[in-house]
Amino acid sequence: MSRLQTPYFLIDRQILTQYYNMLTDALTRSWGNYIIGYSFKTNSLPWLIHFVKLKGALAEVVSDDEYRLAKYLGYQDNEIIYNGPYKSKDSFQSVLMAGGIVNLDCLREVEWVRELSQQNPDFCFSVGIRANFNLESMCPGETTMGEESGRFGFCYETGKLAEAIALLKAIPNAKIAGLHLHSSSKSRSVNIFRSIARMACRLKQEFHLDLSYVDLGGGYCGGMAGRPEYCDYFPAIAEELSVCFQPSETKIIVEPGISLISKCTTFVTEVFDTRDIKGTRYVMTDGSRFNIDATMIKSSYLFHIEQNPAYFGSRRLLTDQVISGFTCMECDRLFHYENCEELVPGDRIVYENVGGYTMSLNPLFIQYFPSVYVRDDTKISMVRKKWTPEEYVQGSITDV
Ligand SMILES: *Cc1c(COP(=O)(O)O)cnc(C)c1O
Repeated sequence: MSRLQTPYFLIDRQILTQYYNMLTDALTRSWGNYIIGYSFKTNSLPWLIHFVKLKGALAEVVSDDEYRLAKYLGYQDNEIIYNGPYKSKDSFQSVLMAGGIVNLDCLREVEWVRELSQQNPDFCFSVGIRANFNLESMCPGETTMGEESGRFGFCYETGKLAEAIALLKAIPNAKIAGLHLHSSSKSRSVNIFRSIARMACRLKQEFHLDLSYVDLGGGYCGGMAGRPEYCDYFPAIAEELSVCFQPSETKIIVEPGISLISKCTTFVTEVFDTRDIKGTRYVMTDGSRFNIDATMIKSSYLFHIEQNPAYFGSRRLLTDQVISGFTCMECDRLFHYENCEELVPGDRIVYENVGGYTMSLNPLFIQYFPSVYVRDDTKISMVRKKWTPEEYVQGSITDV
């Protein structure tokens, strides 16, 4: 097989299928009654959305654009889980009234429910409510925001959650059907999810809620050596939930993103030049940090090297090589490659575990979106053509 033109993302369909099946197996075994909502924001590649849709996942969306993407790709309103602080009122109404899942994030949305319920007095509105709670106190050092609070949903500790629940309970034709407890953590530990489940029990009891679902959100690990897998999370979650909930009455909803797609996705880049400047060896590659770490937070990468098969020269051992991207930004340096053989043009650096927060968080900067391929047993297929100026200019108006 000839080498594909770099840079490109490559998704391994078999590994993706394996992770999806591991998720459904773990959920089936631990709770039985569940819904999977695929987190669009983590990677909204249309091929991937189509794949999870065929597997039965709902669309977990957090904006009007994501909602419309879901519709464009064939999701019905009742197959959508609508989360986040930035919903549009029209799509909010469509999903809610079609029987989709809407998790309220703020008072403005409680107000929308009240308006709609008055306009449709015979309709029964089922909503979920996102709880903001002090997970850090339950799991010290593990959450993303630490001592500082998260900024999504209604805060339990300050009484805002109680207030919102009271407002909803006062609407005669509205019902709180679910709790949404997504919280981002640094650790993605089993303990985080145990604590989230414990919180669900506490809220149910304290507010006398009769819940048809508990939405645990996303934030699981998957495919990371030495870290938990789906089969570690769900028995622990089920153990906690079963104190107050029964699978026959309450579904769990999970919203995986990164855990499904990390392991199956690589980003293939190639060295096109090397240069020595004041004693530093810079290795210039056609992939950029913007392709796989657009928010500039990663401190290390998983990767392997595929040496240029056509290079037969000798390779010195170098103490340091600075692996850099193609952009004209000095910060576009990926990592130090220390005490290794020198890299030469045509060598490939293949980054692993790069499925989440890359393809859809990639800026259109200097080079447009790279191609994406999917590999299965017998072939490699292109699922997104590299963007060119043609895609870039769409919607632009120049002659004004
Ligand atoms: C980001 C997000 C997810 C997915 O998170 P992962 O870390 O990709 O699993 C799920 N639900 C909500 C509400 C989110 O904001």
